[in-house]
Amino acid sequence: MNFRINARIFAAILCLMLAIAIAVHDFWLHRQEKLENYIPIESTPLPSAEEKVVPDEEKGPKEKTLFIHKGDTLTSVLVTSGIEKSQAHEIAELLRKVFNPKDLRPDHEIYITFIPIPEKQKFYDLQSLYFRPSIDEEIWITRTDNGTFIVEKLPVKLDHVVKEVTGKVHDSFYVDAGKQGVPKRILHEALKAFSYDIDFQRSFHANDEYALVFDLYSDPNTHREEAGDLLYATLTLQGKKISIYRFKTESGDYAYFNEKGESVRKGLLRTPIDGARISSGYGNRRHPVLGYTKQHKGVDFAAPAGTPIMASGDGVIEKAGPWASYGNYIRIRHNSEFSTAYAHLSRFAKGISPGKRVKQAQIIGYVGATGRTTGPHLHYELLRHNVQINPSSIKMLPTGKLIGQELKNFMMHKEEIDQQYKTLYEKRSTLENKAPGQRTSPITAPNS
Ligand SMILES: [Zn+2]
Repeated sequence: MNFRINARIFAAILCLMLAIAIAVHDFWLHRQEKLENYIPIESTPLPSAEEKVVPDEEKGPKEKTLFIHKGDTLTSVLVTSGIEKSQAHEIAELLRKVFNPKDLRPDHEIYITFIPIPEKQKFYDLQSLYFRPSIDEEIWITRTDNGTFIVEKLPVKLDHVVKEVTGKVHDSFYVDAGKQGVPKRILHEALKAFSYDIDFQRSFHANDEYALVFDLYSDPNTHREEAGDLLYATLTLQGKKISIYRFKTESGDYAYFNEKGESVRKGLLRTPIDGARISSGYGNRRHPVLGYTKQHKGVDFAAPAGTPIMASGDGVIEKAGPWASYGNYIRIRHNSEFSTAYAHLSRFAKGISPGKRVKQAQIIGYVGATGRTTGPHLHYELLRHNVQINPSSIKMLPTGKLIGQELKNFMMHKEEIDQQYKTLYEKRSTLENKAPGQRTSPITAPNS
């Protein structure tokens, strides 16, 4: 019996010791992690906020890194670290002039220097505060000789490289290019620009290739990198090469154009039916059949049965067939963002079935009165990310084809880019054996 109790006590002590050991180990591990994250401006040891007495021999300002956590405000973080509340408020107010303190994120590390106030052992007097709101900006708050603070926002000089990444599609363009280290921002730009012409779900085959050329900025001190813009991209799908070029138009905006100088963003037809009038707009109305008020999620065009209906834009047929109260129904996906739907058709045009590609203004079907309707009309919907929206709420982009001098300028830009990157694929095949097709060139793209 005694032996059992002793054994239990012994086991309990053992557990306790183990727990203490783990806790101590954890503490040191975290402490070390924090120290690793800390990039000192000048390396002096950091006193903790709880440390009270600072020996007289340690003259001059001390430093500290403040970490922002969820729910923190700049004031609260400063106060926790030993700055007096009134001074913390003053600093936060000053910062507000150049930066909204609400935009502070956990990756914003704030470096401060301070002097302990001898008569108030718990408080520090702030000397300076520094942090980087973004990769290319820094903010300084400094104490002037007369004791007031000033705030400055300064640009950070970044290294700029033009990065080229090429590869073959195995899983998907997004996955494969992502594996090569292409930043998400660049992948999204490429997907958006190509999605007007390419169906990313179906168009790819084995050995299809991609090449992406984009700006990359890096901070020479911290080596942090940030993607700029996609400058040029090509996809070679079953031997057919499609290229897009970033180009600054006369209006000063940048947009992507194909080899012919046509904007990749094709506007949608406002009226997918010739000469028809809108009989019911988008929004609330009394439902003509059901009687109650409900949101009308499309636009109705009154037209005689049999009137041809056109595809609003290039795209892929997603649905074509009878669909509940919509009757005979067609939905076309135009790109990753937009699709359009057409309801109550009397019949479908020849060759219209799910998966088929259609061109803008191609006849896809004919006006009818199938489904829940009082008479022949076209019910037309514009969907953004599969949700109906009011077609008049978005500014449809005109089918941008460059003309005149602007087209000449574009063609010159295109020639330069083509020349500069014509060996992109060949270079990849030599690089592929060593490292995946990545190389950087310190060239600045002409049109940037
Ligand atoms: Zn309708």
